[in-house]
Amino acid sequence: MKVLVTELRQESNSFSAARSGLAYWRSGWLLEPDEVHATLRTVECAVGGMIEVLERSERRPEIVFGPAFCSQSGGPAEPEVLEAFLSRLLPAIEANLPLDAVFFSFHGALQSTEFDDVEGEVVRRVRAVVPPGCVLAASLDMHGFVPRGLAASLDVICGYHTYPHVDFAETGRRTARLGLATIAGAEPPVMAWAPVPMIVSASAYNTMGGPFRDLIGHGRQLVDTGALLDFSLFQMQPWLDVSDPNSAVIAIALDAEAAARGARDLAARLYGLRHAFAPRLSSVDAVIDRAEDPASVKPVILVDSADSPNAGATGDNMAVARRLLDRRSTLRAAVVVSDPSAVRRAFEVGVGGTAEFAIGGAADPRAVTIRAEGYVRSLHDGEYRQEFVGHGGKVSRLGRSAVLRFGQLDVLACHTIVAPGDPQLFRAFGIEPRLYDLVAVKANTSFRVGYAPFAGEIIEADTPGAAAPDIATLPFRKVPKTLFPWTDDASFEPVADVIRRTRDFT
Ligand SMILES: [Zn+2]
Repeated sequence: MKVLVTELRQESNSFSAARSGLAYWRSGWLLEPDEVHATLRTVECAVGGMIEVLERSERRPEIVFGPAFCSQSGGPAEPEVLEAFLSRLLPAIEANLPLDAVFFSFHGALQSTEFDDVEGEVVRRVRAVVPPGCVLAASLDMHGFVPRGLAASLDVICGYHTYPHVDFAETGRRTARLGLATIAGAEPPVMAWAPVPMIVSASAYNTMGGPFRDLIGHGRQLVDTGALLDFSLFQMQPWLDVSDPNSAVIAIALDAEAAARGARDLAARLYGLRHAFAPRLSSVDAVIDRAEDPASVKPVILVDSADSPNAGATGDNMAVARRLLDRRSTLRAAVVVSDPSAVRRAFEVGVGGTAEFAIGGAADPRAVTIRAEGYVRSLHDGEYRQEFVGHGGKVSRLGRSAVLRFGQLDVLACHTIVAPGDPQLFRAFGIEPRLYDLVAVKANTSFRVGYAPFAGEIIEADTPGAAAPDIATLPFRKVPKTLFPWTDDASFEPVADVIRRTRDFT
């Protein structure tokens, strides 16, 4: 038995002012096939989880690799990314034929300037060269876009069960276990796909509490009781402008009827929660008012999700800083911004110097900016170690960085914001979030893992940006208005497609 493992993973933001070329992808990793095993085997990621299951399998499969490309979220990928990936993957597959399976680590919501569904294109290209019975299994992000074509071309699909995402490796393990079970299984699993006509704000739900956690719990119960082998709820991330979008449910069972029943049940329940996922947003001024109120518990975390680099926004919006300065607020506050020219100026001025700084709008001309006299507190090479679960210990590089002070406001300016939900992003550069009154975090939900243990209050703010939580404000061109939130279909009845490929080739 021979299995090839490969990865192409990024979340795209159609509304980002920037495109993601190979240089941008280097913010994550671009691994050649012969580098994957040594680099990712012990990393808490989907590929690491797949390798672990394969190496422990009693069936002793031979494990071979394609390339592993993984990037921080960003604007749609340039064609060179897919070309570079396929020019390594297809020869690796051909050199290893016949293969029993290919395991992919995908996000699911990767868009390029050529393809709305890049993962679907990759799988199509792979199907064309592998034998008909070759099992194709994929691990996806919970925010993946799973259209009918992608579902129908894969034998196994597993999505994250946690948000904030902390089960990257476990999702890889689930994918590998089901993929192995499908190879030459006497009773291979059957997968059912049910589209759900909704997109909702990613900042409005998480699995640490509330109705979405309960729904995941219900799915787990279906697995624990044996009704299903696996399930995934794909809440398509809302910054993806594609012409035929959907959220989706995948259910995997030993027989078609059970898979279809599970998919319909979960899809109906997911759609039923649509109103519960409406974001509750406060204006930036209302959050500042709250933080200025002595009754508030500090630090107040202002969630600036609209400008989250994790969601592909450019991280260069100074909307929060602007209000703090305009109000002459005396709050001890901290914000982060991606602005290479401000960093360059800080290095020219030097530590202890004062100068006028213009900050914001480095990549997105629509961003709010500030212009004010600032003091250079410190200069950095921009390296820090993440502490966030799933990335713990990973070294992140912001590029040259500076901490600038404007009154009581500290601004961490850097080249590229990496892992904005990790408190180490501030802490490593001398800004201890616990000691501030107000900290603006450019993340949707990932930050809750690191911040929840010490946050006084967490308030989602109505800020501008490519990842705006109020979906109605996003400049969609392709998305049809037949989905929720534009259309609310109280009589929605889910339909499940059973993917029969698994039976066809046995
Ligand atoms: Zn996600």
